[in-house]
Amino acid sequence: MDKDAMITYLIGELKKENLELHDLIVPEELEEKQKLLRALFNTRKPMAASTQFLTIQDLYLQVRKGERGIVQLNSLQSIPQDKRIYLWKGDITRLEIDAIVNAANKSLLGGGGVDGAIHRTAGRELLEECKTLHGCETGDAKITKGYNLPAKYVIHTVGPIYKGGNSNEDRLLYSCYERSLEVLIENNLRTIAFPAISTGIYGYPKEEATSIAYDAVIDMLEKNWDKIDQVCFVCFGDRDYEIYKRILKIKLNNIG
Ligand code: ADP
Repeated sequence: MDKDAMITYLIGELKKENLELHDLIVPEELEEKQKLLRALFNTRKPMAASTQFLTIQDLYLQVRKGERGIVQLNSLQSIPQDKRIYLWKGDITRLEIDAIVNAANKSLLGGGGVDGAIHRTAGRELLEECKTLHGCETGDAKITKGYNLPAKYVIHTVGPIYKGGNSNEDRLLYSCYERSLEVLIENNLRTIAFPAISTGIYGYPKEEATSIAYDAVIDMLEKNWDKIDQVCFVCFGDRDYEIYKRILKIKLNNIG
């Protein structure tokens, strides 16, 4: 089965299970079809999928993984001041690492932003496992396998929604990083990548969030120097990358 046939099959199945899509016209062009499939994956309701659907979905996602390119953590460079810390501008769903962190919502049933990207790349099996976790509190973290992602595991954490700064947002955001690292250690994993939790749809001011992210990671690295090998901050775009570089520089100068 070639890629075109896989896409056509998957779109056909997704159309069948949703009456609202009955009249949807499937484009001829491969790239357009691929875009449509991506949109359908994003909007699919959390219902069970057939074994055949999952098999072809997995084949398709493995092809896509190769096309998008896997990035190994050890092909990146750590920051000069600390060999355990990495700052990387890119898409977290391409990273081969023990665990990537998902900025999820309390339902753990998928959403937009990085959550949507992780679910789309991992495949339906991720949602099935997430359903068994019965949600997650803000500031807490839970683990699942990574399925079709290059990362072995996904640690799902729920960041606070920013409401002006007087609702314990800083403590809860710190807790997201701390709990994610605790879950990493509990599962005998050693390398982890974080997105900028809460700074997208949840509206946390980016500079403050970056400062909290750094403090929490450094505190945990100090306490668990023998249990955590590498922590990668993943910035999705130039703006976040510049902010991380600036904040890390300030923090590191203060220390050293
Ligand atoms: P939240 O609801 O916690 O704010 P979002 O997903 O909206 O979560 O955003 C969190 C951060 O993740 C933002 O900085 C956003 O730019 C970033 N992000 C979105 N997609 C990706 C991705 N594929 N890889 C890494 N970071 C991403």
